[in-house]
Amino acid sequence: MNSLLLKKLVSFLNHELSLSEFPRDESANGLQVEGSREVRKIGLAVDACDAVFEKAAEQQVDFLLVHHGLIWGGVKSITGILRKRIKVLIDHNISLYACHLPLDWHPEYGNNVQLLRLLGLRKTGEFGEYHGKRIGYRGHLSREISLNDFKARVDKKLGVQSQAIDFNRKVKNIGIVSGGGWSALHDAEEHDIDTFLTGEPSHSAYTLAEELKINLIFAGHYATETLGVRAAGEMLSRKFSTETVFVDHPTGL
Ligand SMILES: [Zn+2]
Repeated sequence: MNSLLLKKLVSFLNHELSLSEFPRDESANGLQVEGSREVRKIGLAVDACDAVFEKAAEQQVDFLLVHHGLIWGGVKSITGILRKRIKVLIDHNISLYACHLPLDWHPEYGNNVQLLRLLGLRKTGEFGEYHGKRIGYRGHLSREISLNDFKARVDKKLGVQSQAIDFNRKVKNIGIVSGGGWSALHDAEEHDIDTFLTGEPSHSAYTLAEELKINLIFAGHYATETLGVRAAGEMLSRKFSTETVFVDHPTGL
């Protein structure tokens, strides 16, 4: 397995993951903490937190790519939890690279396009505006099925127990926004969606979906956002022949 220079990896990722598409993302996308100059093992994870950093250190990861990074809206002080988390990274010489909205939206590696593929849907368009850009996708089933059958497919493919709320529609046109994307439901009417899939359950989504007559599926914030970092990891291992590992720390939420 090869090692590669941190500088080279960061500039490759900044371009390949299209960070410049989301200048208004609250997440400071890109390299957030600088570690080892040379990268021998790349870790992929959903969340930047102590448990993930410790697991990454145990596995000799020296570059960690996460979906939810440590720096949101700028750093005001490095104290408390933030200090503790950064210290673990620095003590183990691990770089932290965050990619938030670009890794929801990305047409090749993004959580949403990966969800479409995993569920066997044909992409029909973009969906779900957030910070002025559509980050989700719409997809088609070849024939309509019941919500129960679709839920079973989601559960099997993602390894979850999703929550499905049935508003009496068969499933054929599905809108997908990973994570905490419930507000994309506002776009559903315009696109004739019958079923909306997101990660985290939202109380506010219920009455809106009820009135729009759109089924809801909540498949977990964590589970729906493991796909993007995994896809980015596979791409990196193909491109650079560097060892990669998925650092799993499921929240069950
Ligand atoms: Zn998220």
